[in-house]
Amino acid sequence: MHKVVLIEDIENADNKTLHCIFNEKIDEIDCLTPIKAELDVKSLGEYIQIKGHAVGTVLLECDLCLEKFEYKLDFDIDELYSKESLVDDYGNSDKEFEIKEGQFITDLNGENEIDIYDLLYQSVILNFPNKKVCGINCKGKDYLSQKDNADPRLEVFKNLQINPKM
Ligand SMILES: [Zn+2]
Repeated sequence: MHKVVLIEDIENADNKTLHCIFNEKIDEIDCLTPIKAELDVKSLGEYIQIKGHAVGTVLLECDLCLEKFEYKLDFDIDELYSKESLVDDYGNSDKEFEIKEGQFITDLNGENEIDIYDLLYQSVILNFPNKKVCGINCKGKDYLSQKDNADPRLEVFKNLQINPKM
């Protein structure tokens, strides 16, 4: 099931670049449509670069009302993998290094393949919104603001706000 790209195949490809199409649902995520991605997997010598674009629709749970809602994904992928183990200034090896803001290098730790399925899984999760809210008419918002104003001294003000609507 897992779609992998062999490092060897990248090295042997024209221009050391493989064009890779991913089009399937990710089990661990509630996908309404398959996640579609077109990726260029390129060998830069010590590094493997994966660049491309992904789209798809997933179901997320609203943080406020806990209802499920549709969320459209449309994002770029730009990942670097290191063939050699990465060691930082203190001699520690780590799985991931940030070389500049938002740009990480993943250590392949001598693996001879890259798991495209896992890359897509990680990328989709990273591209979820920080605050998952189903929409401007979310019922949970009123519920939460009522809870925030639970101070009894504010009770009278709350009634004043609600009455004109009735
Ligand atoms: Zn909601």
